[in-house]
Amino acid sequence: MRVQRKIALEEHVASPETAVYSEKLHKDKWHVMGPRILDIHGQLLAEMDAAGIEISVLSLNAPLIQAIPNVSQAIETARRGNDFLAEEVAKNPSRFLAFAALPMQDPDAASEELTRCVRQLGFVGAKVNGFSQKDREDSAVYYDVPEYRPFWRVVESLGVPFYLHPREPLPSQQLSYVGHPWLLGPSWAFGVETATHALRLMTSGLLDEYPKLTLMLGHLGETLPTAVWRIDHWFRLAPRGLPAKRKMSEYLRDNFYITTAGNFCSHTLTDTITEVGVDRILFAADYPFERMTEAAEWFDNLDVISEEDRLKIGRTNAEKLLKL
Ligand code: ZN
Repeated sequence: MRVQRKIALEEHVASPETAVYSEKLHKDKWHVMGPRILDIHGQLLAEMDAAGIEISVLSLNAPLIQAIPNVSQAIETARRGNDFLAEEVAKNPSRFLAFAALPMQDPDAASEELTRCVRQLGFVGAKVNGFSQKDREDSAVYYDVPEYRPFWRVVESLGVPFYLHPREPLPSQQLSYVGHPWLLGPSWAFGVETATHALRLMTSGLLDEYPKLTLMLGHLGETLPTAVWRIDHWFRLAPRGLPAKRKMSEYLRDNFYITTAGNFCSHTLTDTITEVGVDRILFAADYPFERMTEAAEWFDNLDVISEEDRLKIGRTNAEKLLKL
């Protein structure tokens, strides 16, 4: 049965300024994607209506801020991007919420910007597009390193989720993909890159230090729910100095929420529910890369979950998480 008034958690838009970055990345399909990603109150809203989605949590398209090596430029672009999101949400606050873009190149600036977005602009969390390039193009900062612990303390104390969204590995890190461009992007490389980053955070001891931290993953968990048994198995047999105190499956269950963004596979969903519990799963489409109507058609007609669970995933889990 259709869950009307669904809440969708991974829906991307662009401002006229940030669209310039996105256009460079999606040259070949920009004629289709450009109008979709820019037209929040037209095409996006119409698709939400057609799909039975009441609320979309908007975020700026990837990789954007994370791919701006100049730190002050990243800080300024994030600030303007978040102001843009706040203005768009204010035009229709019963249908839109927002996740903050963060200049993770500078952990203090990221903390300040998240605090501003949550306290002053009413944002419901952050969405960060993987590692950040800092100072030079061929660089990657991952957020498990000690410099980010004060940032994570701020995230935990604000009580909002941090959505770790995919991005492409740097060209210098694509050796295993050479000659196989079809494996880059959302088909495979996005998931590997994001799952690895999530495991870096989980194994670092971060979640022992901040046990109330809430992280989010899209795409039914970037393969982690089905891989985690083997990860725990080998950490037990060969821990190799692993700093984390608990099993990865425990962090996945206690600290993560997982969305259906761009992964409309019924048995992967039931596996994910089995691994992390139905209270940790949220509906998402991954607009504009996916059709919200396709996501809804799949979700509303799933016969592998109960009506009670459909309502939880479609709406009430998000209401609780985002304190709506
Ligand atoms: Zn996405």
